[in-house]
Amino acid sequence: MIQVDNIVKRFGGIRAVDGCSLAVAKGSVTGLIGPNGAGKSTLFNIIAGMLAPDGGSIMLDGRDVTGWPAHRLFREGLARTFQIAHEFARMTVLENLMAVPAGQSGERLVNTWLRWGAVREEEKKIRARAEEVLDQLRIDHVKHELAGNLSGGQKKLVELARTMMWHPKVVLLDEIGAGVNRTLLAEIAGEIERLNRDHGYTFFVIEHDMDLIARLCDPVIVMAEGRVLTQGSMAEIRANAEVIEAYLGGGKGKPGKVQHGAA
Ligand code: ADP
Ligand code: MG
Repeated sequence: MIQVDNIVKRFGGIRAVDGCSLAVAKGSVTGLIGPNGAGKSTLFNIIAGMLAPDGGSIMLDGRDVTGWPAHRLFREGLARTFQIAHEFARMTVLENLMAVPAGQSGERLVNTWLRWGAVREEEKKIRARAEEVLDQLRIDHVKHELAGNLSGGQKKLVELARTMMWHPKVVLLDEIGAGVNRTLLAEIAGEIERLNRDHGYTFFVIEHDMDLIARLCDPVIVMAEGRVLTQGSMAEIRANAEVIEAYLGGGKGKPGKVQHGAA
């Protein structure tokens, strides 16, 4: 689904991503772990079109999409989570979903929108889809709440719901578990599993919580100092001496928050 080939990104003198190559298979939930400063978020921002790489290429579903802007990648089915922006906090959950611009399959909706008289019909369809997604993620009971009034965990589910609006091919999740309590984290993990299994969504997941990674992801890719150190099943990763070294010995940043003995 995603093929990253020899990507390089510099910030001044720092090589944040330094010749990174990896693949995310269609239908997989692929994990990306590594110490703080390894370049994980920078790589995600490049894949999602938020940052242009200094070198290398990105393929999405067999197409060279290197340097494409985010909105175009989104239309091609690449979705990523965003924190609910300030201006959306005063909109309801349902309105937040309805405001997601239509992707590939929604393009026709936008076109018919321009035709006189079709507006209400299309709005009904968008609303129906938003309600379906909220139902799938079991947060339909908060659909009329203002997004800003939700708990941290519910906001995470709304972020996930926003990516689901127009049937993405692949969803990038950057630390969806950050600041979320364990009960809700297990719930989010369950939703990701279900969307993957029942709806065929591919996920590419950055996460510090090793329990979540172990439960969800296969394979797990380890990044350190801007490139891939190793990859494999979580069991293989946990037993890998180089991985232990990357987390505990030096590295570029401070050691990652590896929990429950991954390192
Ligand atoms: P990770 O997500 O693995 O913790 P990042 O991709 O956030 O790592 O960061 C990789 C390196 O790039 C770090 O040294 C970080 O300080 C640097 N970096 C990230 N974004 C920027 C930026 N916008 N400007 C300058 N340096 C950056
Ligand atoms: Mg990061």
